[in-house]
Amino acid sequence: MKITVDRSKCRGVRNCASIAPNVFDIDEQFKAVVVDPKGDGDAEITKAAKFCPAVAILLDDEATGKRIFP
Ligand code: SF4
Repeated sequence: MKITVDRSKCRGVRNCASIAPNVFDIDEQFKAVVVDPKGDGDAEITKAAKFCPAVAILLDDEATGKRIFP
């Protein structure tokens, strides 16, 4: 799964880092970064994206290039 954080939308709410702590971290600018795209399972990553209030996490299927979320 390809994970993209739209940093212009990210508000640093931290839901993503709480739900998938091995994938997402918050940097010194209070924006989310992907530290390890395979750090947590797809279910946690998808949940993190869905719980982002800013809809700043975009998920794509690596193999097909299709958008998974949103
Ligand atoms: S949940 Fe969304 S707004 Fe909050 S830190 Fe993560 S990407 Fe940014």
